[in-house]
Amino acid sequence: MADVVLHVKDVFKSFGGLRALNNVNLAIERGKTHAIIGPNGAGKSTLLNAIIGRLVPDSGSVTFEGDSITGLQPYEINQKGVVRVFQTPEIFPDLSLLQNVMIPVLAKREGSFRFNPFARLFEDKAVREEAMRMLEDVGLQDQSHREAANLSRGDKRRLEMAMGLVQRPRLLLLDEPTAGMSRHDTNRTIDLLQEVKARGLTKVIIEHDMHVVFSLADRITVLAQGTIICEGTPDEVRGNPKVQEAYLGG
Ligand code: ADP
Ligand code: MG
Repeated sequence: MADVVLHVKDVFKSFGGLRALNNVNLAIERGKTHAIIGPNGAGKSTLLNAIIGRLVPDSGSVTFEGDSITGLQPYEINQKGVVRVFQTPEIFPDLSLLQNVMIPVLAKREGSFRFNPFARLFEDKAVREEAMRMLEDVGLQDQSHREAANLSRGDKRRLEMAMGLVQRPRLLLLDEPTAGMSRHDTNRTIDLLQEVKARGLTKVIIEHDMHVVFSLADRITVLAQGTIICEGTPDEVRGNPKVQEAYLGG
């Protein structure tokens, strides 16, 4: 039996009369990069939100490391090591890159940021060093004191990745990592994702860009209109006529 980290079982979710997820089943294997692709409106973001607890399925379950996480709050699921990055920019533009990477570590340690003065926390030497190592890992060490607002799109991705990785995820969910990017930034992001892939972390990538998916994924699940129409290796998926049809018809 494969070592499955995350199980999505018989999940349904409707918005009014619209079935966004229609009996979705998914098994994510440890150490693998699993892509979920599909045309716009297929239900990819809905599925991701059901995994991270931003929405609760109408029926069905999500199991992480053997425990049901269905209906848990997003922060509870995050504490178990399920970390999502991208889609909406979640960096702090007025802070330096280093401070940005320190925040997830401090937030975890402090439980909450609300009642603590930022400035003092940023002086924590151990956290600074940990954040600096992470910036080195993603190649941003020379810009550690720059304001995050001034970064290029590709470098913002790198920063967001550092903010995710510094949480030591057990499962990393990447939501459209190359959305809206130039070819140059897309290629840089693919390089970054390849580096992360080499660490053996378990990852789910939600992606629209086929080029990105086929160069990174071990397995691919194709969603169309809330239903899984195909699942397999990149080669299996590439040759599947249903996939062609969903993309061309969608
Ligand atoms: P994808 O990420 O694959 O583009 P989504 O999961 O965002 O697709 O959306 C799937 C379908 O559900 C779409 O038809 C979308 O309009 C609809 N939908 C998504 N979220 C909501 C919501 N909060 N309320 C109503 N409809 C929604
Ligand atoms: Mg989406």
